[in-house]
Amino acid sequence: MSTSAVPGQSCVIVGASAAGVCAAVALRGHGYRGRVTLVDADPNLPYERPPLSKGLLDGESAGLVPIQPPSVYQDLDIALRLGERVVGIDPAALTVRLSGGDVLGCGRLVLATGVAARRLTTPGADADNVLSLRDAADAVRLHARLARGGPLVIIGAGFIGLELAAVARRRGIEVTVVEAQPYPLASVLGPAVADLMTRLHRDHGVRLLTGVTVTEFLGSPAGVEAVRLSDGRRVPAATVVVGIGVRPRTELARTARIDVDDWGIPVNEFGQTSRAWIYATGDVASQPHPHLTARGRLEHWEAAQRHGTAVGSTIAGSPVRYTAPPYAWSDQYDTTLQIIGRPRRSDDFVLREGAVPDRFLAFWLRHGRIAAAAGMGAAREVGVVKRLIAGNVPVDSRLLSDPGLDLRGTLKQHLVRKSAQ
Ligand SMILES: Cc1cc2nc3c(=O)[nH]c(=O)nc-3n(C[C@H](O)[C@H](O)[C@H](O)COP(=O)(O)OP(=O)(O)OC[C@H]3O[C@@H](n4cnc5c(N)ncnc54)[C@H](O)[C@@H]3O)c2cc1C
Repeated sequence: MSTSAVPGQSCVIVGASAAGVCAAVALRGHGYRGRVTLVDADPNLPYERPPLSKGLLDGESAGLVPIQPPSVYQDLDIALRLGERVVGIDPAALTVRLSGGDVLGCGRLVLATGVAARRLTTPGADADNVLSLRDAADAVRLHARLARGGPLVIIGAGFIGLELAAVARRRGIEVTVVEAQPYPLASVLGPAVADLMTRLHRDHGVRLLTGVTVTEFLGSPAGVEAVRLSDGRRVPAATVVVGIGVRPRTELARTARIDVDDWGIPVNEFGQTSRAWIYATGDVASQPHPHLTARGRLEHWEAAQRHGTAVGSTIAGSPVRYTAPPYAWSDQYDTTLQIIGRPRRSDDFVLREGAVPDRFLAFWLRHGRIAAAAGMGAAREVGVVKRLIAGNVPVDSRLLSDPGLDLRGTLKQHLVRKSAQ
């Protein structure tokens, strides 16, 4: 699509990842004819982040996976300013300032600045062999370290920590995962699913130590050689990866004096911040999503894409709310964990009987409907469950736990009943 820019109309998007790129494409898709500029401090053509902890580390894929081929930015007349950081926003002049000194005018500004990996403050945490994994440069560093072998200590049994454990085990590396909580992923999926994940990783030879923290990095300034745990144990390490969560990148937002909270940049249902001309989208946005009990971040690739698309459409004049159930996936060993919706503690939990560690379905029910679900090695069933959630279909919890129940049949019956009404 070629556009002739409307003089005086322009939108700057800070952050060219899932949310920022989708916002730019949606702007054009909905007929926005002003100048569109995508700025990112990362010098690479915008790339997909999920493969960084999977195929790329595994050596399965040779390079970064582009979010869009270069021709798309050209065809849609989206200017890319890569390797440049936006360092300030002037709300009176409606401009942003780049690290190189350029000033860009923007009638609309989108902050898609994402999140940064949280770091440990324990002495020694800044050694060269203590890494985190957030961007391409981190992945390249980690890939090089894994090529030297183990032992690898991963601090934090979240999605990235567990994916990394799986990749390292496949390469025959000795892996210890240290988790402060009693279970991996417990705050997301609860103890029953966490138990299945624990078995999966232990069966693959991961040493998973829960309920302990790292109190000390042992070694020389040249590098950590072991970590000391809160129970006194010493665990040898050639490489340490810290995967203890993230913090929202709100530094830039503060320069515009817009509201910022602990979760990120609070936005309304259309992605608008406390200044109407500035929007925030993706991981950095603290959003009022119907699947969250309170305003918060979603932190998933598809959610960031959908939110970015909604914000781009809204700015172009076609307001869209992002309300679909959040979806996330995580590849571990030869299987994939998929999660739809957000489980709540008060939900009724149903685990499909006969579950084995690398194949299960779990449901969280609210008012007799499936509100959230997680499946491992169950892609077809998860596809059906997505439709049961979207259709708000009443289900019988006793039947759900029966592996003999045909979920497709349930959905079909519901659709037939609906069409007969
Ligand atoms: C290793 C890894 C694996 C993942 N795997 C999965 C997965 O399997 N499934 C899943 O659902 N989710 C996964 N995620 C999460 C998913 O990638 C994120 O939810 C998604 O990337 C969020 O997109 P975003 O556009 O909001 O922000 P981000 O992807 O964080 O991008 C923000 C961008 O803003 C740029 N930026 C920040 N400040 C400035 C500034 N001042 N000036 C210029 N540029 C700036 C940064 O350089 C960055 O490129 C993974 C994340 C990581 C790190």
